[in-house]
Amino acid sequence: MYLYNSATRKKEEFQTHTPGRVEMYTCGPTVYHFAHIGNLRSYVMEDVLEKFLRWSGYDVDRVMNITDVGHLSSDADTGEDKMLKGARREHKTVMEIAQYYTDAFFADCAKLNIKIPDVVQPATGLIPEFITMVQGLLDKGYAYVAGGNVYFDTSKLSRYYIFNEHDEEDLAVGVREGVEEDGNKRNKADFVLWFTKSKFEDQALKWDSPWGVGYPGWHIECSAISLKYNGEYLDLHCGGIDNAFPHHTNEIAQSESYLGHPWCKQWFHVHHLVTPEGKMSKSKGEFLTVSLLEEKGYDPLAYRFFCLQSHYRKALVFTWENLDNAQGAYNKLIARIAALTPGGGEVDQAVLQAQREKFAKAMGNDLNTSLGVTALYDALKVKANDETKLAILADLDRVLSLSLLEKAAAKREADAKAKESSAASGGITVTGEGDPAIDALVLQRAQAKKAKNFAEADRIRDELKAQGIEVVDTKDGAVWRRV
Ligand SMILES: [Zn+2]
Repeated sequence: MYLYNSATRKKEEFQTHTPGRVEMYTCGPTVYHFAHIGNLRSYVMEDVLEKFLRWSGYDVDRVMNITDVGHLSSDADTGEDKMLKGARREHKTVMEIAQYYTDAFFADCAKLNIKIPDVVQPATGLIPEFITMVQGLLDKGYAYVAGGNVYFDTSKLSRYYIFNEHDEEDLAVGVREGVEEDGNKRNKADFVLWFTKSKFEDQALKWDSPWGVGYPGWHIECSAISLKYNGEYLDLHCGGIDNAFPHHTNEIAQSESYLGHPWCKQWFHVHHLVTPEGKMSKSKGEFLTVSLLEEKGYDPLAYRFFCLQSHYRKALVFTWENLDNAQGAYNKLIARIAALTPGGGEVDQAVLQAQREKFAKAMGNDLNTSLGVTALYDALKVKANDETKLAILADLDRVLSLSLLEKAAAKREADAKAKESSAASGGITVTGEGDPAIDALVLQRAQAKKAKNFAEADRIRDELKAQGIEVVDTKDGAVWRRV
């Protein structure tokens, strides 16, 4: 497989430290609010990557953190604590907030068919490990104590900026937002490993440490959690592109200084979901969540389908019109699969194998999911029996996770039921706005009409009219609506 590596800015052949095994780490959510669908785009694409690796025969050990402490509202160690802000807003404790939004995050993941990683570690559960790592960095001379906090000394590194599309100027963002610059830092890029002094006095969660009572910086949690569960050599680190700097840059600085050898080989960054107005955020514009999509009548899997139709290294523009198109295309795809007849004949293994190879080639070229989706349409067109087509679709859906066969089976069943009830009413179909009493009257009228009892048909029509119901006879049956 070839994958673009943000650290080298090249598409490279995917290699692992231990052959056949992938140690994979994903930056998890900061659980102070619902995830917006832009955040979830990253998790969808990372999920496809993990499933494709497994489908290709790798053992994958995937680890994710939950940031339930210490992430400030600016990535550059300044601003308010996001968790505390959430707790104040909702009059709950910080841990109540963390649990509530962790559960909400996984509920969203389930709706989007995102698999839960093998290990999910909340940051608050691993404080001793963070302290050990901070102490190790101090012992090795990569960190210093100033003004009560422990800082990482970036001047000790020969190369700090790994992802070079970012530079020191980005660190000034917090300053421009009106937050004071931290005078304890020896170098502008230095970052906090452990806070004992912070700008807010009422920090809710604090732990004892050799440097005083305080709490860990955000970056140290990912380094320490990955080290504990993935080991000293990480093959694949994932996250949204906004995490590349400073978060991932700082993770590399800490981990390699602590370990004394290169740490992570491959960096996979998913680009932003944007609106025509710009970058999606929780604070401006409509707050787009999975629940909002559902309220508006969309299937969350249509959003997954929408994500898969474009490449993870391109910004994806979200509009309701784009989502409508994705929902329409997804429904049509399901309808085409539902039209296949299961249970007839043997699977043609040669055809299945050929389609697998085509899919592997597309997805193995820097995870080209849009070609992966095209492979589904190809499967419908192959010269083979329905059983073979269904076998191909089932196989590819192990990676794409669009619930294709389940949805098609449900549609087949719903269609069969509709046919049955149409037969029971003498072949007359009634469609309306979901009121069984009106359905029954409309059916009586249609039956009377069919029996040429026009007086009775007109009487029922007037009765319906009095209730504000209009009936139109179409070639597909009687359709009623409220006027
Ligand atoms: Zn992280």
